[in-house]
Amino acid sequence: MSRIRLLPEILASQVAAGEVVERPASVVKELVENSIDAGARKIEVIIRRGGISLVRVVDDGCGMDRDDALLSLERHATSKIRTAADLAAIATLGFRGEALPSIASVSRFRLTTREPEAIAGTEIIVAGGRIETVRDGGEAPGTQVEVRSIFYNLPARRKFLRSENTESRNIEHQLHLQATGHPEIAFALVRDDRIAFQLPAAANLLERIRDLHGSELVERLLPVDESSASARIRIRGLIGQAGVSRQSRAQQLVFVNGRAIESPVLTAALREGYHTALMKGQFPVTFLFLDLDPSAVDVNVHPAKREVRFRDPAGVREAVVETIRETLESGRRDWQKQFQKPSIGPIASHQEDTFAAAPTFQPAALSPSSEPAFHSVSWSEGEGPRDLRDVWKSNDAINIAGVSRQFQIIGILNKLYVLMENQDGLVLVDQHAAHERILFEELRRRMEEQGVPSQRLLLAQTFELAPRDAEWVERNAATLQKMGIGIEPFGQNAFKIDSLPTFLDVSDPISFMRKVIDGLKSASNGSSPLRLGEDMIAKTVCRHAVKANDPLGYLEVEKLISDLLECDLPYCCPHGRPTMIQISLTELEKKFGRKV
Ligand code: ADP
Ligand code: MG
Repeated sequence: MSRIRLLPEILASQVAAGEVVERPASVVKELVENSIDAGARKIEVIIRRGGISLVRVVDDGCGMDRDDALLSLERHATSKIRTAADLAAIATLGFRGEALPSIASVSRFRLTTREPEAIAGTEIIVAGGRIETVRDGGEAPGTQVEVRSIFYNLPARRKFLRSENTESRNIEHQLHLQATGHPEIAFALVRDDRIAFQLPAAANLLERIRDLHGSELVERLLPVDESSASARIRIRGLIGQAGVSRQSRAQQLVFVNGRAIESPVLTAALREGYHTALMKGQFPVTFLFLDLDPSAVDVNVHPAKREVRFRDPAGVREAVVETIRETLESGRRDWQKQFQKPSIGPIASHQEDTFAAAPTFQPAALSPSSEPAFHSVSWSEGEGPRDLRDVWKSNDAINIAGVSRQFQIIGILNKLYVLMENQDGLVLVDQHAAHERILFEELRRRMEEQGVPSQRLLLAQTFELAPRDAEWVERNAATLQKMGIGIEPFGQNAFKIDSLPTFLDVSDPISFMRKVIDGLKSASNGSSPLRLGEDMIAKTVCRHAVKANDPLGYLEVEKLISDLLECDLPYCCPHGRPTMIQISLTELEKKFGRKV
């Protein structure tokens, strides 16, 4: 007797539903994508009990006539592709013709739809995949899909649903994704009869992000718009400046041709692009859109269409890494405009104003683009102070010219934080983190240019490594040399080490080498040799940076700050921790209750 049988249609749909419809949020995703494909300007989503009891999506899109409405519930029925060539270059969010029948097979389902010109619309009621009613209906032009009691006929699946709150959050996240991908569409979410959010159609991405996440985040985002001819890709959107990060990936959004996707290739590219601008274990904030020729990316990889395959993953990766890196560095230039170099120069006292009698610190070497010199720091008596303590002891020590965007050093808190004032308010600098950043960039520059200076060991030392580590060292010998590590093979799996970077202070070169190899091996999956060096520097630089409690003299602080401002990425240390924090006057006013 033959054992193979064709599955009944409804069962086949339920099997397909297993992949497409995991949870209420996937229903929302599929329905909203359909609405977007239908050209909707406004999409309203209504959920009850985390979507488990109800999901309703209402759109004002093109609607369907009765025949199409009935067809849309058949498996593999789609208006979006017709030929294999279409499949190779998908321009819509949907194309599999699976969502509606899958959803209808695992819920109590109701579709009402009307084309704009039609006199009447159609209403179709389905339960567990069986069409029960077809009649005239459909109020406003557009489509409304109602999904009740998801998995009511598949108790085993229903058990896998999480709490209502969790499902609600998933739905909300899903809608955030769609809303970010389509700022031009108005979205609303009603949860258990209360409006959770309502987003008017936005003029652009920035406006949409502001509506979703508030202006505080928007102020810390950098615009991106780069095209790479070689990779035939355009990368646009907004990304968090260095130092902006999150503990989860919730705000690490990447869209490929308008579709929110999850991609290990892109996740790695983002991480590498941020590199030292990201603290360990933290995730960047990105709202990044990659536009490629549809034929350069395969979206038909996963039934839920969350994953894609790039034809040229290396090219895409490189383009993303470069774009992020350049954007972060250009962010620095804007930032520098805000925190002009504190060029407190030689003491002069020729200015005629209330402090005319006092010797005055005056900005000496302002760059041509900056504001004219102004009266910055004054002392009431004697010569200019050698030490900051002199400054903050005197009563009228500091005179800030409000018109300038420059900042002035006020003092040091807890032997660690440099306090400064700029036009926006208070700036706190972590002197340790700042010094790390400065050292890091200096060593990196040296490594790129002529190699890190190294110092011979009094006694060369030999040691043995596990075969895999030995192979790694051999492969990266040139890089290690550039990093100032003199290491060479000394027999089978054995090595001789005879010099180390001058900036290092290690008592046991061998255990140091083992640590470096361990650390770098894990950090360097597929990284360039330069990255490897950067990692080593980032890992070792810390111990050389100013210790938190090292008291610094005034001139040292001044030098530290001006060196910091010269860095490529001044606002975070090589481990991604912030080097400085701005507390705006507005924030202070709020705290003091002067403003609400
Ligand atoms: P797919 O989106 O992959 O084509 P679906 O099962 O999601 O498959 O939808 C089937 C078809 O039903 C779509 O191709 C589209 O023509 C039609 N359709 C679905 N939802 C809507 C909607 N909200 N407005 C207009 N047409 C829709
Ligand atoms: Mg669809």
